[in-house]
Amino acid sequence: MATGFGFQVAASDGRARTGVITTPRGKIRTPAFMPVGTAGTVKAMLPESVAATGADILLGNTYHLMLRPGAERIARLGGLHRFMNWTRPILTDSGGFQVMSLSDLRKLTEDGVTFRSHVDGSRHFLSPETSMEIQRNLGSDIVMCFDECPALPATGAVVAKSMALSMRWAQRSREAFGDRPGHALFGIMQGGVNLALREESAAALTAIGFDGYAIGGLAVGEGQEAMFGVLDHAPGFLPADRPRYLMGVGKPDDIVGAVERGIDMMDCVLPSRSGRTGQAWTPRGQVNIKNARHQDDPRPLDENCSCPCCTGYSRAYLHHVLRAREIIASMLLTWHNLHYYQHLMQGLRDAIAAGQLAGFVADFHTKRAAGDIAPV
Ligand SMILES: [Zn+2]
Repeated sequence: MATGFGFQVAASDGRARTGVITTPRGKIRTPAFMPVGTAGTVKAMLPESVAATGADILLGNTYHLMLRPGAERIARLGGLHRFMNWTRPILTDSGGFQVMSLSDLRKLTEDGVTFRSHVDGSRHFLSPETSMEIQRNLGSDIVMCFDECPALPATGAVVAKSMALSMRWAQRSREAFGDRPGHALFGIMQGGVNLALREESAAALTAIGFDGYAIGGLAVGEGQEAMFGVLDHAPGFLPADRPRYLMGVGKPDDIVGAVERGIDMMDCVLPSRSGRTGQAWTPRGQVNIKNARHQDDPRPLDENCSCPCCTGYSRAYLHHVLRAREIIASMLLTWHNLHYYQHLMQGLRDAIAAGQLAGFVADFHTKRAAGDIAPV
């Protein structure tokens, strides 16, 4: 494992575990949820507010930052931490997934991907080597291997071919990353929903050797049952003494199910993105604050929540500012959602440490099944 970077499991309960990832920029309590700061900001939140919700680490998107404002510019301005005023650890993705999902005119070869920017149409090239260089310029604490995730639906042959390419790219990423004390490189397991391919991918990555291992290519439309089907086995293919990161997950019940199955880290745009469209997450499930039932409701979103949104504002106010398209609607709902997600992670960590995860999970599902409070 890279110097200055470590992972200690403190307790386990079934397949779930809780522990700490140590980095020179601070500790990351696991299981950890990483808010997504796509373009150098978690939208509608000040960095200190993101930290106040309990986030130990956030995720930055290589694809967005390389196109605008550019990784070399960010390097000249002191790196991404300084640029966006976030002092805690940052994980950056490799850009591979978003090249596939956002850019135009992609051309994939053994060497890498040529594509046109969705911002201004300019031509760019991403490969294992350029992705490592961009993530080095950003100053990322946890760097992700450059990989390919095939568009779904894909045949078994396409998934197998893509996985093999990603493993060759993982080797090239490892070589291009080099030895960087205090910075970690994570490999990414692929293989779709095929367990044999997943196991083959895990063996290839483990042979190369990484500081942590991600499970990629899930939460891309396969459904929760299929995802859990993979997660029932895939974490066990990976070394137990390294963090396991499930990319792009998810809804609160996806997170709980993933943690039960041995996942240590996750990220998702959902709490921040849904906050901007009036969707709130509470222990009683999802609340659409746009709904007219809230317009005369003096109660907070969640009376047991200690976030600034719930301690200061009513459902009626949130409904009003959302309808009036006031910026504070995005601010308050994003803050609440990120607070709820971090509160859920703390609950999971405490339950695992106490050996009471099964009871915590049963209570989580019971509360959600009861649904939102009755209208006034
Ligand atoms: Zn709240």
